[in-house]
Amino acid sequence: MERTFAARGDIYYTSSPSCSLSIEDGWLVVVDGKVEGAFRHLPERYSNLPVKDFSGKLVIPGLSDLHVHAGQYQFRGLWMDEELIQWLNTHTFPEEAKYRDEGYADRAYDIFVDDLLHSTTTRASIFATIHPAATLMLCRKLEKAGLPCLVGKVNMDRNSPDFLCEDTKESIDSTLEYIEEVESSFRLVRPVITPRFIPSCTDELSRALSSIANERGLPVQTHLSENLSELEWVKELCPESTSYADAYRRLGLWGGTRTVMAHCVYSLGHEEDMLEDANIWIAHCPDSNTNLSSGLMCARYYLDRGCRIGLGSDVAGGTTLSMLRAITDAVKVSKMYWRHVDQSMKPICFREAFHMASVISGSFFGRVGSFEEGCDADIVVLDDSSIPTTVEGLGVEERLERYAYLRPHAPVAHKAVQGRWLF
Ligand SMILES: [Zn+2]
Repeated sequence: MERTFAARGDIYYTSSPSCSLSIEDGWLVVVDGKVEGAFRHLPERYSNLPVKDFSGKLVIPGLSDLHVHAGQYQFRGLWMDEELIQWLNTHTFPEEAKYRDEGYADRAYDIFVDDLLHSTTTRASIFATIHPAATLMLCRKLEKAGLPCLVGKVNMDRNSPDFLCEDTKESIDSTLEYIEEVESSFRLVRPVITPRFIPSCTDELSRALSSIANERGLPVQTHLSENLSELEWVKELCPESTSYADAYRRLGLWGGTRTVMAHCVYSLGHEEDMLEDANIWIAHCPDSNTNLSSGLMCARYYLDRGCRIGLGSDVAGGTTLSMLRAITDAVKVSKMYWRHVDQSMKPICFREAFHMASVISGSFFGRVGSFEEGCDADIVVLDDSSIPTTVEGLGVEERLERYAYLRPHAPVAHKAVQGRWLF
């Protein structure tokens, strides 16, 4: 049977923020694309399955990137000396405008999809740009690569430069056309409603997008409370709202369907209770928050409250697609928060951050991110044998932690999505 096998290797996954499971030289059994279980010894009933032998290598669930801008990937690692609003106007908007040109989009999205394919990411919630043709091209490339991503055509109809601003009706109509095209053309890639953020969208546009999401049961992604000058701007634009989150709520963009709110750096003390909504996922993006001097996010608070706090790369505010980097950056930022802001909020550890990038981020896409029975078999195999050291006797979790710190950008050895091996 296709998508059915027993994979042998050093297995690691989590079942909760505090509970990880490591099985050295264990077996991961997959039947028809779903995980049957991870075992120390291969149970007799599975002894006839074809074997994938990854002995000596790390076998982990695919990770999910809750927030990434494909249309910013080409300038990753550049222009890190500005804050959000200036950075958007000076660098980001001119770059995103280039995707009007399909030839440029073709070359750029080839690079993005190839790098994503060889990273630890198996699912991502992606912002493209306002351009429908280029965004559909991105969807085609992701579908061909075998990556089941959510892709949003970005909406912006105010406070944006002429070269990157839509007419309200055109924005709504082209979004509807885009959704229909994606839903009829692709099996893996799905659309996500993507208002850029409140400053970029008129109330009329936001309300129309809310109706589209609710009527069609589509997910939503946007930005929330990332940067101080952005917060001031939203306060001016929405004087009747009690908070940034409340402004989205008034526009119908709060948890009507499952929704990613990226950043939430300044939500604590203003709108943290609203983030407990069962339909809200927080995309914590520690690398971006550091690069753009946005601020220190308190992941510990939301994790302990049982909020759905996952991780995002937020390229190109973040420098890299590596979710292993997002994991180690989340650990580091939580240490700075604890040290400099609030010593009652103890740092998150590697295991907790891994759980955020695998299970919690993954839950936005379905039952993915773990090797518990019934999960989609999204699998990544890492080869840590090239790390020179005299240290011996490390456990599986220790080897994975070391790999995350030392080889976050290395192409992964093998990857499967829903039990189908991509390479
Ligand atoms: Zn973003």
